[in-house]
Amino acid sequence: MAEPIRIAFLGGLGEIGRNCMCVEQDGKLLLIDCGLMFPDADMHGIDLVLPDFTYLRQNADRIVGCVATHGHEDHVGGLSFLLRDLSFPIFGSPLTLGLAANRIEEAGVMGNAELVPVRDGERRRVGPFDVEFIPVTHSVPHAFAVALHTPQGVILHSGDFKLDLTPVDDRRTDLARIGALASTDGIRLLLGDSTNAEAPGHAPSERHVGGVLRSLFAEHRGRRIITASFASHIHRIQQIADAAVAGGRKVATLGLSMRKNVRLARDLGILRIPDAALVDIEDVADLPPEQVCIISTGSQGEPMSALSLLAQGESRFLKLTEHDTVILSSHAIPGNEFNVNRVIDGLLRLGAEVVHSGLADVHATGHAQADELKMLQAIARPEWFVPIHGEYRHLQAHARLARAMGVPEQHILLCEDGDVLQLDDTGASLVGRVPAGYLYVDGIVGDVGHGVLRDRRALAEEGVVVVVVAVDVESGEVITDPEIITRGWVYAPEAEDLLDEACQRVEEAVVKAFGSGIRDIEGLERAVRQAAGRFVNERTRRRPMIVPVVMEA
Ligand SMILES: [Zn+2]
Ligand SMILES: [Zn+2]
Repeated sequence: MAEPIRIAFLGGLGEIGRNCMCVEQDGKLLLIDCGLMFPDADMHGIDLVLPDFTYLRQNADRIVGCVATHGHEDHVGGLSFLLRDLSFPIFGSPLTLGLAANRIEEAGVMGNAELVPVRDGERRRVGPFDVEFIPVTHSVPHAFAVALHTPQGVILHSGDFKLDLTPVDDRRTDLARIGALASTDGIRLLLGDSTNAEAPGHAPSERHVGGVLRSLFAEHRGRRIITASFASHIHRIQQIADAAVAGGRKVATLGLSMRKNVRLARDLGILRIPDAALVDIEDVADLPPEQVCIISTGSQGEPMSALSLLAQGESRFLKLTEHDTVILSSHAIPGNEFNVNRVIDGLLRLGAEVVHSGLADVHATGHAQADELKMLQAIARPEWFVPIHGEYRHLQAHARLARAMGVPEQHILLCEDGDVLQLDDTGASLVGRVPAGYLYVDGIVGDVGHGVLRDRRALAEEGVVVVVVAVDVESGEVITDPEIITRGWVYAPEAEDLLDEACQRVEEAVVKAFGSGIRDIEGLERAVRQAAGRFVNERTRRRPMIVPVVMEA
């Protein structure tokens, strides 16, 4: 009997983001990705969301390393937090490690991580794990799928991938290797990216965007061009730069992460922009508009980003006019539409012409669509399948595709965050749960917890009512009339009668509580909260946060 393998899913199964899983073999643990997620609009004041690290902390001494499939924040952005308490090596392509290092350095925890670069197709041991790094195409260069050669057979983790047959760097998803694994060892378990499982057909090639960009640049000859894209989308940046240089323009970067990533990718030889074609953003004002192309961050409408400041007319470096064309070479991630639309409105108000993915094919997804996912199934022919990376509906859509491709229904496991899967001689099954809730990060405070978030939600939606009463506990008397302070519930000056009435109710409740023998502050505060809450709800149909303050005089 071969030793069983266990996989704990810590994030990314049931949401887009914070991808993280933990594979166990011979008592050792290998992490695959450790990402973050950006908060929803109703997560007030939250900067980002992480996987729950409880299980990893409890087993810190058994962790032998982390495999980073690629450099997106939802795959490596959690490492800088995990490395505050833990120490382990990280394996990935040089670009992936360079992108991850940005945040790890910022957090000052580089001392806890050894960054180990791996080559395309490399196979190496990490503790007891036999790990193979298989090239895949995605919206950041040098992404990997990962094949784990285990006593239970090959486990193939697709990473984020698409099957781009004409990628900008000619580095294609290595389907031949996946096919070879399938026909020799066989693929025991496939874990597959589900992000675009609901989208039919085949994702367009990144190269297609290059053609669209070139014609846009030709169309807008004579105008200054400002583009925005993800700072990690090096292939997009390459195609923008190519279109610019071909049209006799100089390229300047705008935004810190864009500047950093362009430098990193040029140093690694992944991005090719001639020195002579690059200018500093401080110098673009001296150039005629038709010779300028600016590549900016902020394509998701992030409020403090370079593009957002530009749209508000608050950029330190340039002012937009009717002689500018702005190309948003991106697609709003669900949840960001509002911010993106606000930026587009701002740009238009300043007179600029705006081209976005709703008007032209200036973006191509980095995730495989239905036909590509079916193609992977056909080539990998997995014995067991678990859809990963996606909301529940994406996971389910991916499961449907696998079924259509012949994976038997009972060999497809729809897992969610926190599930622990075991692969043994009898097959794959769910054998337990580990903590996998959201870890909310708020500035430097760290985890703020569900309670705080619930309070913020109540405050944001309903406001707060503070009720102050002074009492003499010994004699059981109310000393001063209750006082009510409110924010966000009613406009106090216009609601004097209502507030007076509320005070009266509260006083009655305190008197009644004394009458029934309650003498402790906590008990009195409970009575105040109940009375005030009931009154507020009865009269205004609202449920603001009620904060009772009972003082002993
Ligand atoms: Zn990705
Ligand atoms: Zn991802």
